[in-house]
Formats: sequence, structure tokens, C-alpha cells
Amino acid sequence: MNSTSALSDRLRSAVRRQRLVDTAIKLIEVPSPTGSAGAVSDRLAGLLREDGFTVERPEADHPAAPAVVVRLKSGRPGRTLQFNGHLDTVHLPFVAPGQDGSNLTGSGASDMKGGVAAAVEAVRVLRDTGALEAGSVLLTAHDLHEAPWGAGQQLDRLIQDGCVGDAVLLPEPLCDRLPIAGRGGATWRVTIRRPGPPVHEVMRPADEPSVIAAGAELVARLGKLGQRLALKEHPLAGRETVFIGQIHSGEIFNQYPQECWLEGTRRWLAGTSREEVEGEFRGLLAELAGQTRTTIDADYHVIRDAFLLEITDPLCLAFQQAYETVSGRPLATGPKPFIDDGNTFWGLKQVPAITHGPRAGGQHTLNEWVSIDDLERVAHLYALTAVLYGAAA
Ligand SMILES: [Zn+2]
Repeated sequence: MNSTSALSDRLRSAVRRQRLVDTAIKLIEVPSPTGSAGAVSDRLAGLLREDGFTVERPEADHPAAPAVVVRLKSGRPGRTLQFNGHLDTVHLPFVAPGQDGSNLTGSGASDMKGGVAAAVEAVRVLRDTGALEAGSVLLTAHDLHEAPWGAGQQLDRLIQDGCVGDAVLLPEPLCDRLPIAGRGGATWRVTIRRPGPPVHEVMRPADEPSVIAAGAELVARLGKLGQRLALKEHPLAGRETVFIGQIHSGEIFNQYPQECWLEGTRRWLAGTSREEVEGEFRGLLAELAGQTRTTIDADYHVIRDAFLLEITDPLCLAFQQAYETVSGRPLATGPKPFIDDGNTFWGLKQVPAITHGPRAGGQHTLNEWVSIDDLERVAHLYALTAVLYGAAA
């Protein structure tokens, strides 16, 4: 048996299933819709304090639910691996925790209190075994993740304030691939207006601009932009896009309308910055407004930056070694199907992040579930990755 297998066995036998399940249930049973995760953050902080950890509570611009931060240090130099999770859930009716066969159920079971509990168990395992020989582990949990009620702003603040590791693991419910590329995204709503009141079409001044014609021209120009963007393509993450989801104008067939509005998205790849994307979009609108003599306003919201992970990064190497030791084979790489906090870590500070969590389902529904066996696997995997990464050259 090689030393990594021996280490892995030692960590696995220190994972305590009931302690992990109890933690997940104690988190699930406190309702925490996005923006109101204060009570569950206090619950997690209390659990960690009872367990002997020193807990920091940085507000990070969200005093209603200060973040929860724990550091576990080996006392020797090395890399810091961060375990980061969100404690908020989408705004759906609360479902109390329950058990269905070998799965846990309830609000946040899948997205992502189960994963947070697994990360907490990994920190306990590392503390109990003293296995961390170099570097440290940083555990962070926060609110304001789920859109549209949050925009990730509490995590942004934590990262800007330096509460960040050298690399990150995110126990979101994704376990069938190692996601190495994903698109950034923004939503937009554009409103085109003309001066003057609504009038019967036969009464309209001949030289008044038409907001419908300007809207049609915008559709055409975004179509051309889309063709140019499609040239930017990543084999896994796909193409850059601009998408129109709705367009509206007018009240009845013979009234000359004042307003036309459109809504849609813009998605981009790593290497394109969020500022570049917004500047290009607003520039196109300003040019159209000048040419059509209309006023054009845009509500423009970035969801998250684009995401990229180098498979030769020490995080990937440590993770794959740990994964193969735990599961008997490496994890295949693939695209990231959703936008998550890994995009933020990469976008703001080029900190590499891997999204990997328990087998789970029903996220953003009333039927969330997470496999208890897989929570144990993730706790074990996280602990082993932390030891390998902390000591990585
Ligand atoms: Zn989530």
C-alpha cells in the first residue's frame, strides 16, 4: 500500500457519518431564503464553536447575515485550500428536513447545505487526524448567492478583502465531471423611447422617430453582433452569444407608440472581460440612439465572469490524485453547465476553483435530495485533497 492510500484510509475512517448527517439537518432546518441567511449562518457558527473551532464573522457588506469563516492551520508553510459554500436557498416555500431511504431531503439539501456539511466534516476530519502536514484550510460560508435575489456581492467583498485561499473547492451538486470551462453571463433590458405623447397614427408628426423601427434595427444589429461573437468558441464551453428573449411595443393597432423594450442575455468566454462586453453593448446602443433620434436606456446586470481551469494547476493535480485514490479512476473533464462562485474566484483574482459536490438533485425545486453515502465520499475527498494540495510544490 502506498502512502497516499494509507493516508486516504486514515482520513476515511475518521469521517463520522452521523455527525455529518446531524450537521446537514441542523442547517436544512433553518429557513434561509437568499438575503435572509442570518439565522442559518448563526447556526453554522454555533456548531463550529461548540466543536472547538475559532469562528470569524466578517459582515462583508451584508450585516443581516455575516459570513462564517474558520481557518485550520498545519503550522507549516504551504498552500491554502478554501472550501466555500453558500447557505442561502432560492425563494420557494420551505421544506423541512427529512430522510428518504439513503437520501436526505428538504430545502437546501441539494443546493447546497448538504455540500456545506460535507466540507465542515472534512475540516473536522483534518483536525481530528492532524493529517494536514503543510499549508492550511479555509472554510467560508455566505449568503447572497442565488439570483435574482442575490448577485454574489457578499462573496465578492470577502474575496476583495483577502478572505480567499490559493485555490477553492465548491461542494455544489455536480459530480459527473471535472468542469474546466464555462461562460460568463449578463442579463439586459433595453428601453427605446421617443419624445412626445402617444397619438393616433394619422395625427403623428411626419418626422417623429419610430421606436418600433429602432427596435427592429436593434434586433438586426444584435444579430450581426451574434454572428461575429460566434467566431469565439471554446471546444467545451461553446460560443459567445447575444440572445433576445422578448420584445414589446405598442398598445393598439393605430396608436403611435412611445416605447419599445427588449430583454435578453449576453454570454462570453474566458479571455473576454466583463467591462469589454458591457462597453461593446452600450456602444452599440449609443450609436443606434444617435442614428434613430431615440433615447435608449439599458438595465445591464453581470451574473458572473467567465470560468477557466488549467488541468496542470496544482489544484487539479491534487484533486485528481485524491479523486483517483478515493474512487479508483480519475474524473473526466467537461464543461461547467451552470454559472457559480467558481466563476467569481477566477474572474476577480484568477484563483482556480473546482466545483465538485455530492450526488444530489432537485435543486431549485421543492424536491431536493442528497445522497448520504456521497456526502461521506465528498468529506473524505475534500480532506485528502487538502492534505495533498497543502504540501504541493
Ligand atoms: Zn448552489
